[in-house]
Amino acid sequence: MTTIMIDAGHGPETAGKRSPDGVLREFSFNSAVAILVKRYLVEEGMTVVFSHKEQEDITLSERTKLANRLKVDAFASIHANAFGNDWNNANGIETFVYPAASKESVTLASLMQKSLITACNRADRGVKKADFAVLRETRMPAVLIECGFMTHREEAALLMNKAYRVQCAKAIAFAITAWVYRGKR
Ligand SMILES: [Zn+2]
Repeated sequence: MTTIMIDAGHGPETAGKRSPDGVLREFSFNSAVAILVKRYLVEEGMTVVFSHKEQEDITLSERTKLANRLKVDAFASIHANAFGNDWNNANGIETFVYPAASKESVTLASLMQKSLITACNRADRGVKKADFAVLRETRMPAVLIECGFMTHREEAALLMNKAYRVQCAKAIAFAITAWVYRGKR
């Protein structure tokens, strides 16, 4: 049985993490997409565990400890990006892995990035490396996905749009499924 941990980055009350006009809260996007990803992966026969809670902020170390304790097969953290605090032109989708990431993490990240760019038709910022706690502290393949910028007017509108959330979730689930079954069929 394959178990995937889906992490809706941040919590409902995490400070900052909003569009410049305050209308979009990052957690609302992250958690809505997480719920959809879970549905699609369960349909593929996988077990999905959330690291976050809807009503409570869970610390990063609690999230990664849970992933390590459950020995999940992969960890995917879902986010919406921001550049500064005001509206600007930074835009597109990017996926992060830890600088010393395993080959398996890099494979998952590259499938994720390709899948999202194909499904969402946004600018391709590529797979990048970053020393993020959820990537560093997890002992299994782990990726962090940035699905568009809350500080970009067009992308902020997309991030609030149900159809865009479905596209992101399908792309994320597709990449995880392709990764799980790689070489097995
Ligand atoms: Zn975030």
